[in-house]
Order: sequence, then structure tokens, then C-alpha cells
Amino acid sequence: MDILKTKINNVRNVSRYTIGEGSLADLPNHLMTKRKKTKKQAIFFIDQYFKNSSIILKFLKIENCDKVIFVPTENEPTTNYIDDQVMLLKKQGFNKPCAIIGIGGGITMDVAKAVSNLLTNEGKAEDYQGWDLLKNPGIFKIAVPTISGTGAEATRTCVMTNKDTGLKLGMNSDFTVFDQIIMDPKLSSTVPKNQYFYTGMDAYIHCIESKNGNYRNAVGDAFSSQTIHLCREIFSSKNMMSDTNRSKLMVASYLGGCAIATSYVGLVHPFSAGLSVVLGLNHCIANCITMRAMSEFYPYEYDEFWTMADKQNVEIPKSICDNLNEEEFDKLYKATIIHEKPLTNALGDDFRNVLTKKKVIEIFRRM
Ligand code: NAD
Ligand code: ZN
Repeated sequence: MDILKTKINNVRNVSRYTIGEGSLADLPNHLMTKRKKTKKQAIFFIDQYFKNSSIILKFLKIENCDKVIFVPTENEPTTNYIDDQVMLLKKQGFNKPCAIIGIGGGITMDVAKAVSNLLTNEGKAEDYQGWDLLKNPGIFKIAVPTISGTGAEATRTCVMTNKDTGLKLGMNSDFTVFDQIIMDPKLSSTVPKNQYFYTGMDAYIHCIESKNGNYRNAVGDAFSSQTIHLCREIFSSKNMMSDTNRSKLMVASYLGGCAIATSYVGLVHPFSAGLSVVLGLNHCIANCITMRAMSEFYPYEYDEFWTMADKQNVEIPKSICDNLNEEEFDKLYKATIIHEKPLTNALGDDFRNVLTKKKVIEIFRRM
């Protein structure tokens, strides 16, 4: 399984974090230490949801020299979107800001990471889709998650889709890891219920995939076990969005991100990536849909997942592949099987013997 030998065995975590209700108010202080006379500007990427949220914007103490970009979240980031942002920022003189801050969910945090990397590394976003390709550390970067589950605040990747090649892959590098994160559970109180479940379950799914995989790391396993434990408590309780549970899920998301930064996902993510690339479904809902077809591979977790989904009364779409044609199934197969690392992690070097084209299509039909 040589394919799994990357730099993830020498683990880098985020340098600093703060956690607690109201911790967003500390952000200007963290920035103050970075703002110098010559390098004063900061760039804020903020989830478009907060465009009119005076309460949050007031805490940020944005200065006149700063740049604020509201990130659209209907679609996940593409390499072209990242390249456009970098080009515009350079044109406007924001080549060397003192910091980049990403405030939002996985999309916004990933945009902040990718732009930070590209302001210090020549070329285009697609040049760095892969493992350990970046040459220089990015701009100092801070994450403020406003929805919990993906662990994007903790991982060494930023997921982007290349529309030309159909490749959904991030810049996996130690340079992608945030320097500072601020976890303020107050921020996730406004997340819609279904979305809260879909994104929250990304933490659970990362960790069940990692713990069932071939590539293990003792510390990663410990992070995974605690993440799964927290998710069980949250999603088996009456109100998954209570203050306590939102706080717990922020921790689970962070720990799940730490877990996945030292290991690989398994079967759910490659199939989910297929749904995202071919049918345009967003990552976390696509994971939940994929779980419909996972009883054969993760029987215990399959039962547990659907018990939690029933308990929380969330809607997970079904039969989404019922009316697809042969060409679309072909695309789904290709977009899934391309993910060699997680599939090797789940099934071993000869994963293609298990996941024949016929088998892959049958799995998609089960969704
Ligand atoms: P998201 O960024 O896709 O946002 C989901 C929705 O929630 C959006 O409509 C957004 O506007 C809304 N939202 C966010 N915070 C809110 C709040 N406080 N109140 C109300 N609405 C709010 O969220 P996500 O599920 O966290 O991220 C998915 C993305 O993360 C995908 O692009 C996926 O590829 C990526 N991802 C990255 C990693 C990584 O390690 N970098 C890991 C997993 C997934
Ligand atoms: Zn995920």
C-alpha cells in the first residue's frame, strides 16, 4: 500500500485555538499582533449568510484598509473561482496581507486556505491539487467555523473541484493548516436543522471510515473514537441543537478534522465525491445519501447512522440515481474510482477487483 505513504505520518496540527461562547470577540486582538505598519491589510472571507449580520460584523472591527469578500455557498469552490479571487486580490494590491480570515463553513474556510496558499505560491489552484505540492507557507490564516462537522478548521486540505478535469481534490499540505482557529459555539445557532445534521455527520463519517481503514495512527484513532462518542451523544439526544450540543459538535468537528489529518477516509467519500462532481450535490448531503448504500461495508455504523437520522427527523433524499442514463453512470463510476487513496485505505491495493464498474453502478442504484 505504498500509495498511502505521504507526509501525513509526521503530523502538523493547527498552531493555536480558542474555544468558548463569545470567543469571536478576541479576533481583533489576534489580528492586532499581526498588523504591522508595512503589512497592515487583512482579507476577510465571510459566508454570504452573514452579509447582513450586524452582530457578527461589529465584532470583527474591520479596518478601512481591509478587504471583505462574501463567499457564495450554493456551489462548492472550483479551481477557477479560487484563481479568479487570487487574480482580483493581486490586481487590487492585496498581494501580501498580514492575515486571511475565513468565517463560515467548509466552503468559506477552504476558500480562505486556498487563497492564502496561492498568494505565496506561483501558478494556478489546479497545480497544487494533490499531496505535498506547495513549496512555500501561505499567508497567516485564521478560521472561524460557523457550522460544525467537516473539520476543515483542522485539516491539511482545502477541497476544490476542477471543472475541466472533473477532479475534486484539495491542496493536501502542511502549509494548508490554519495558524489560529476560533471556535465560538454561539455562531452555529442559526444553522438550518437538516444542514446541521448533514454537516455534523461529516465528522462521524470521517471517523468511522478512518477507524475501519487499513492506514491507522494511534493518535488519529483516539481522536476518531472521541469524535464518534460525541456524535453519538449529540445525535441520540432529544435536541441535537441545544447550546451544549452545539458546543460539543464544534469540538467533535475539530477532533474529527485532527483525526482525518493523520489518516484517510474510506468508501463513503469517493462515492459522495462522485455525486458531487456528476450530480452537483453538496458534500455533506451527498455523504448522507451515500450512507443509504453502505450496509454491506459498514454494517454497524449503517444501522447507527439511520437510527440517529430517524431520531432527529431529518430529510435525506433518496432514489436520486433512479433515472440516470448509461453515460451518467459511466461518469459516476469514473469520478468514484479515481480516489485511489481512500479506496486503498478501505479495501486494499486490489480495490478495483471489489469495485468493478458493475458493482459501483449497483451501489449508486441503491441510493
Ligand atoms: P458550507 O460551507 O457548505 O455551508 C452550508 C450552508 O450552511 C450554506 O448555505 C451556508 O451559508 C450555511 N451556513 C453556514 N453557517 C451558518 C450559520 N451559522 N447559520 C446559518 N447558515 C449557515 O458548510 P459545510 O457543510 O461546513 O462545508 C462543506 C464544504 O466543506 C464542501 O465544499 C466540502 O468539500 C468541504 N470539506 C472540506 C474539508 C476539509 O478538510 N477542507 C473536509 C470536508 C468537507
Ligand atoms: Zn467529508
